Amino acid sequence: MNKAEIVIIGGGVVGASVAFHLTERGYRDVLILERANVQGTGSTGAATGGVRAQFETDINIRMSLYSLDFLKNWEFDCEYEPKGYLFFATTKDQLEYLKANTERQRELGVRGVSPVDVDAIKEIVPGLHCEDIVGGVFGKQDGFVNPLAIMRGFTEAALRNGAKIEFNCDVTSLISQQGKIIGVETSKGRIDCAGVVVCSGAWAREIAATAGINVPVEPQRRQIVWARTEEPIDPHLPMVIDIGSGFHFRPARDFRGGTFDTEREVLFAYPDPDERSGFDTDFNEGFIDKVYAHARHRAPFLADSIVLREKCRAGLYENTPDHHAILGGCDVDGLYLAVGFSGHGVMHSPATGRALAEIICDGRARFIDVSCLSLDRFNKGELLREAAFI
Ligand SMILES: Cc1cc2nc3c(=O)[nH]c(=O)nc-3n(C[C@H](O)[C@H](O)[C@H](O)COP(=O)(O)OP(=O)(O)OC[C@H]3O[C@@H](n4cnc5c(N)ncnc54)[C@H](O)[C@@H]3O)c2cc1C
Repeated sequence: MNKAEIVIIGGGVVGASVAFHLTERGYRDVLILERANVQGTGSTGAATGGVRAQFETDINIRMSLYSLDFLKNWEFDCEYEPKGYLFFATTKDQLEYLKANTERQRELGVRGVSPVDVDAIKEIVPGLHCEDIVGGVFGKQDGFVNPLAIMRGFTEAALRNGAKIEFNCDVTSLISQQGKIIGVETSKGRIDCAGVVVCSGAWAREIAATAGINVPVEPQRRQIVWARTEEPIDPHLPMVIDIGSGFHFRPARDFRGGTFDTEREVLFAYPDPDERSGFDTDFNEGFIDKVYAHARHRAPFLADSIVLREKCRAGLYENTPDHHAILGGCDVDGLYLAVGFSGHGVMHSPATGRALAEIICDGRARFIDVSCLSLDRFNKGELLREAAFI
């Protein structure tokens, strides 16, 4: 293992998808380097598995549309559950924003998404406190998938096609010569290659910097509270999101193989404004009170739930300044980036893999124009604007 045509740094869901799509395009000598001894120890293993086409920007909507379609029709079972996403608003401005997004989503081909009034919201989420809610939007095709199943599916298919994966292999630096990638230095020695795709999630900035490339990806802890309700929850409960505060909850699923009660267990969270950038992934007890302050107001069935402390968790979001991914090449020839998903990397992994394979093989992504996600948007001041992130 001292040579490969293309090296992929990181064996999470994104690296696995890029490897799969490259091998589908005929590449055989694709090598995934993963510093852990198994896959799924990064953000992919912490993800809760939400998938939605309800975004603001065209690029996010298109990436979701393509990816949802792919996941529904793929040979591999991703455990897609179309339970829906309900965004609700507590001000008129928020509601107008959500409705405008819905119109654009429909124009771009999203089906089953529509505004809902307060009575409809009460039916979708029995027991929700709706006095301060002015309306919302509901997307029926949105829902849940199993992030680890997607990662495994891509990996198995890539390995079947001839790709390889090396564990316990930490990439310590990129090696370039005259502005062109020629290899990587790793904890197991040097590997020569003609191309590198950085898929190292929250850890992308450090490795790209070794080739002199500034990749503005900031790691930020995201915590999830796991609880059991007293009464069984509605079996049709979707993902429910307050667009104002970002507080959200959904029925729980344990993708790591643990047992859970599908009738009573829920996950809830919100983007904690006190959270700073950093690599800390310890769950902080103080977060429980903060989340319950929202839960108490929003629904008695959440307020009365019991925290399952051993199941609460934290992982890293990989935020960019405009909360959109960075896809494509950069000033170093042969160096490609698939990073900065800002909390949407699982749901966008199919489109990402295909985009990177097309960029590497054809010079640009043809199935969707992803040029607005290039790294140079930050230098050019062409940042995207999306407020519907959580
Ligand atoms: C709590 C939480 C909830 C989330 N919920 C959702 C959701 O509902 N839907 C959704 O779409 N997304 C969600 N996300 C975001 C999603 O998890 C990520 O966007 C996605 O997993 C990114 O995948 P990745 O493969 O890029 O990164 P990772 O899964 O982090 O994989 C990167 C891999 O690179 C390896 N690596 C890093 N540096 C090196 C190196 N130098 N050498 C070798 N290997 C290296 C790491 O060990 C890791 O395995 C959530 C994230 C969190 C934290």
